[in-house]
Amino acid sequence: MADRSAVETFLQAMLRPESFRDYGPNGLQVEGRREVRRIASGVTASLAFIEAAIAAGADTLLVHHGLFWRGQDGRLTGWLKARVQRLLAHELNLFAYHLPLDAHPELGNNAQLGRRLGLSADARFGEQDLGFVGEGGGVALDAFAARAAAALGRAPLVLAGDGRPLARIAWCTGGAQGYFEAAIAAGADAFVTGEVSEPQAHLARETGIAFLACGHHATERYGAPAVGAALAGEFGLEHRFIEIENPA
Ligand SMILES: [Zn+2]
Repeated sequence: MADRSAVETFLQAMLRPESFRDYGPNGLQVEGRREVRRIASGVTASLAFIEAAIAAGADTLLVHHGLFWRGQDGRLTGWLKARVQRLLAHELNLFAYHLPLDAHPELGNNAQLGRRLGLSADARFGEQDLGFVGEGGGVALDAFAARAAAALGRAPLVLAGDGRPLARIAWCTGGAQGYFEAAIAAGADAFVTGEVSEPQAHLARETGIAFLACGHHATERYGAPAVGAALAGEFGLEHRFIEIENPA
């Protein structure tokens, strides 16, 4: 058992949210019970995740995508009311870390995705240094795409470049398609992220740099469980990652 405030202090010290400009509040988003015993980690605080965590007997939830984002109008109605109602009714703590959970050099989404793709970063790039870039070893695009498909359990959408071997590969999890130009400027031969938009198809053709969209959810599945495991280890708590399937 751990006190919620000790858990919060541990997470804040590890993830250092004060060093990011983010789109929503990081840290404790919904306050539940004071004693923490069982943690459920997940990608998104969706209703399905919250209900699965309740069924698993969790008292504390740790996610990458929390409930509150810049641009919301602040009303607790509809789907947001339903999520908050479940949390409050069960006295669950909800901890959410967005960019800090992408960026952590060992446990974050980017670092953990890199491990699964056989990549390790020797440099960072892009806004707030969220992008990772490292050696690709000259792998062929097809072979690298197959590696990504095997690691993530789904085939990536691949925009081929000019067919060059991949000496340098950059990556940034989630909806980081807007980092493609920064990845190119950082010397990448391919860029891996979760999502794709229309402009990246043209940029891949015109610059010769390959682009792989591997799924927002699929690329961001690894940071929260890594941090949850570290938290559980620190305080001797129970922890499990709850996967809620998401094709996007
Ligand atoms: Zn995301």
